[in-house]
Amino acid sequence: MSQQRDRVAFVSHCILNQATRARWAGGGARREAGMLRDVVEVLLSQGVGVVQLECPEFSLYSNPRPLRSKDGYDTPVFRDHCRGIAVRACDLMERYVDGGGRSNVVAIVGVENSPSCGVNSVTRTVEGENVAMPGRGHLMDELEAEMHIRGIEIPLIGVSLRPKEQRKGLMRLRKAL
Ligand code: SF4
Repeated sequence: MSQQRDRVAFVSHCILNQATRARWAGGGARREAGMLRDVVEVLLSQGVGVVQLECPEFSLYSNPRPLRSKDGYDTPVFRDHCRGIAVRACDLMERYVDGGGRSNVVAIVGVENSPSCGVNSVTRTVEGENVAMPGRGHLMDELEAEMHIRGIEIPLIGVSLRPKEQRKGLMRLRKAL
């Protein structure tokens, strides 16, 4: 029974540590205090453990860092960095297989509109403006590609820091658990 397994979710780093959200001169990315409490509460209420993915933007560029879209981060250095994180995450995911050959990883939770962690929506630059568009961020692109190579099938779920969108993401997360 899935309830009896030691279930875990792999989550974008800032879900558990909002300090990695981008800050720049005079501003910063939308954030909550400390953690994304509602996401944590859903996982906790379902008895799901959490593995925190590395934040690719913070680990490479720290803070402050300029506001960038997926296009702004589209460099070989950044893509390689995301690829390394994805490979290490998949190495770890492969450890979470139970005796019956089933994965105990029940979801991967990203952050919508992030240039790196967006799952269904990502910030792109169009005619000089940053806009939300359908698509994945760089880390989720690399994670999905590496999972595909290894035959790992785990749902990717995006949560948003925008309240209305967050409710939809939380519903999808609850359904996946
Ligand atoms: S890159 Fe991902 S983990 Fe890092 S702050 Fe952005 S959304 Fe969060």
